[in-house]
This record gives sequence, structure tokens and C-alpha cells, in this order.
Amino acid sequence: MHDLSTTLVAVATPPGRGGVGCLRISGDRAVDIANRLFQPSGKRSPTSADRPCFGRFRGRDGRPLDHGYLVIFPARRSYTGELTAELWPHGSPAVLAELVEGAIAAGAQAAGPGELTYRALRNGRLDLARAEAVRDLVAARTLYQARVAFAQADGALSRRLGPLRESLEEWIARGEAAVEFVDESETHLPGGELQRAIEQAREVCSELLAGFRAGRVLREGARLVIVGRPNAGKSSLFNRLLSNERAIVTEIEGTTRDTLEEQLELDGIPVRLVDTAGLRSVRDPIESEGVRRAKQAREEADLVLLVFDGACPLQEVELKALRRAEQPPETERTVVVVNKCDLNGARTMPVPHPEVLRVSARTGEGLDELRAALRRLLVGNRPVEDPLITNSRHARALEQTEAALGRAAGASASGLSEELVLEDLREGMLHLGEITGEFTNEDLYDRIFSTFCIGK
Ligand code: GDP
Repeated sequence: MHDLSTTLVAVATPPGRGGVGCLRISGDRAVDIANRLFQPSGKRSPTSADRPCFGRFRGRDGRPLDHGYLVIFPARRSYTGELTAELWPHGSPAVLAELVEGAIAAGAQAAGPGELTYRALRNGRLDLARAEAVRDLVAARTLYQARVAFAQADGALSRRLGPLRESLEEWIARGEAAVEFVDESETHLPGGELQRAIEQAREVCSELLAGFRAGRVLREGARLVIVGRPNAGKSSLFNRLLSNERAIVTEIEGTTRDTLEEQLELDGIPVRLVDTAGLRSVRDPIESEGVRRAKQAREEADLVLLVFDGACPLQEVELKALRRAEQPPETERTVVVVNKCDLNGARTMPVPHPEVLRVSARTGEGLDELRAALRRLLVGNRPVEDPLITNSRHARALEQTEAALGRAAGASASGLSEELVLEDLREGMLHLGEITGEFTNEDLYDRIFSTFCIGK
């Protein structure tokens, strides 16, 4: 992977038959090698331009194999940043394999997974974040994934991170000057200004991370767990949200002993709905197993829907659940609902919580508001736009950047030595650089590029 002097060959089209196949040859000898495999039909030499040239492809024995095009890309306009020849015969695996063998016989080397993109990276055609996005684009299964990956491959993330990096670089340079010329007061870091700059940088990080979380929810779906006392109407709400009759509804308390799961789509967000056994203290071993599972489901949830029975005053166990819902991070993932608001009293039943939705699983009242509230907690208030961060490696690096900046801000605010502030800033910069690949090592490259396809 690390020898950049060889000329590489790879089939860029997927295995199997197709109308057209594509073979890529990249490196100094690309045109020489391609010419050994190609005979132009007209007089024009295929070495001269990046315009497709029609002709015949030849096998290793020199006999014609197929018709097709040869395209030459000069280094400044090629994907890899190297002289590149693309051969477009028909998409026959036999023809493509023979052309690869012909190229190897003429001196090319078979490319490994991602090796062409690795060259593009090393030749400065793209940074690591964009290279990874190319892989994600190729791997995209849905239009949404493709669109998001394309924006990143097109440099959207790198552009967003650019000003952040520049600002950090500037502050690090100023910090270094301050440490070096300790006695000259004008070189000291101006605390207020520095803290504002750090705050701004952290905001960019947290915005990108919020987008990452929303994007993850959109791609992978969220777990929504319904919790409440027996008979509060959890199963009825579950059914309402699903608009079918999956959960069993009865008037006997504790029917839902186990957890039930179902997939639903909430404004395009895939949600796995989990109905649990109620909130209660029980002695029956089967029941308590149900309660234990309910507790576990609640812990694994992205969102908790806490349902109260509008027909009964709140019980101690419910007040306890409410108190827990008020503690962060529970607040950010709990929706409090009073059900049965079609009954007298449920509309006005006092619930000590700042935000309570009144709904009726029976009539459907308040259900739209409930869906909107769930959606808001899952992906925020903004329209679901394409997140710039979808890669967990990037998210981790950004979290570390944010944490380091937080420490820098703290150190600066509490008047600690400039050296300490500088250390944290440098660490933030280091993590930021991991995203675009400024500060990486060959091991990381190997790990990342091994997940690419051959021919890319
Ligand atoms: P769960 O034990 O919390 O799952 O509660 P269920 O969904 O099984 O409902 C318990 C009882 O309350 C059933 O008799 C339901 O028909 C009734 N119920 C549920 N939701 C409503 C509602 O919005 N209004 C009224 N009036 N009754 C409801």
C-alpha cells in the first residue's frame, strides 16, 4: 500500500457481467501499459487527450478480444492525482480478467482495496474525511445515505472544519508566543477573547455532534420505550402509534408481562416501539421478571414515554418515576403523557412536571402533538437536514476535540498557566486533525482503506 511509485491496475466495476466494464490503470506507466492492451481504430493516438478513444482491446497473446474505449486522464485531472488510463470494454468478467493479467504482464501491480483512493489522498486530491465519504458513497444502500455521503465526499465537512482549525492554529501560535516570551505582558493570552473563541469552536463541535446523533437515529432508528402503571393505557397508546392491533389490550391489570416490540415510522424516522410491563412492585416471579425487563428496556431506550392514567390519581411509584425524569439526562429523553383525557378529570389532573401532554388513546386526541414531541426529542427542532458527521470515528474525534477545548476554557477561566491552556488546545487540534487526516499514522490508513472495495 505504501509504495507510491508503482503503476496500479484494478477492475473498477463490480464483479459479474454488465454492459460495460471499467479497468483503471494509475501511475507513471499507465499510458504505456494501456497502449499494450489497446489498438485505436482511427489515427488519433490515445495518449494525447482525456477524450474517449474507440478501438480494440488485445489479450496477452496479441489477439483482439473486444471493442471499447480508452480514456486517458492527465495527473492534474485524475481521481488519483496520477496519470490514469481507463479501459472500457464490455462488462465480461473473462475479458476484464484477461486485461488485468495483460496489464500485470506489462508491469502493473494489482491494486488492493482502497489503494487508488489512498493514492488520491497522498497526492493531495482529497483529505481523509473525504476519502472515507467516497467509501460510504459506494456502500450507500439508500438514497439518503448516498446523498449524505456525497456531501461529505464533496468536501462539506472539511469546509466546515477549516475555520475551526484555523482559529485553533492561531490561538496555539499566540499561546506559544506567550509561553516563550513570558516576561512581555503584551504577548499574554487575552483570557476573555480566548474563551469566546473556544466557546465558538465548541459550539461548532456540538452542532456537528448533534447532527451526528440525529443522523444515526435516521439511519439506524431509535428505541422508544413506553413505561407506566398497569392499565394506564400503554398498550392502547402503543397500538395508536402503530395504527394496528399488535399489543393485547385487556382490562385485567398487568396483561403486558413481557416486552413487545414493533417498528414504526415517525415522519420518516424509523422507531422501534417497545411496550413494557408496567411500573409496579410485584412479588409474582413471572411478573417481577417482566418488571426487570421493563427496567432494562428503559435503560436501553433512546426515548421514554412515561404514561399516566388520567382516571386515577398519581401513585408513589409514578411520582418516583417523575422525579427521575427530572434529572438530566433523563429530561432529554422522557416525554410525560396523561392518557384517557376523553374522561372527566383527566384534562385537569395535576402532574408535577413542567411539560405534560394530555392524550387519549381511545379518541386519538393529542396524538399528533405526541408524535411531534417525540420527533423533536429524537432529531431536534430543525428540519432533518443532511448531517455532516455520520462516521463514528469522526464523532469520537470531535467529542475528544470538544472535551479538550472544554478543559482549555476551564484552565483559562481559572487563570491556570498558559502552558496548561496551550496543552489542551494542542490536544484539541490533534483530535480535530484526526478527522481530515493531518495527524494520522499508517496503521490508521491501513485500517480505513482495508474497508474499501478494490478498484476504488
Ligand atoms: P396498559 O396496561 O397500560 O397497557 O393499558 P391498556 O392499554 O391495556 O388499557 C387499559 C384499559 O384502559 C383498557 O380498558 C383500555 O380500553 C382503557 N383505555 C386505554 N386508553 C384509554 C383512553 O384514552 N381513554 C379511555 N377512556 N380508556 C382507555
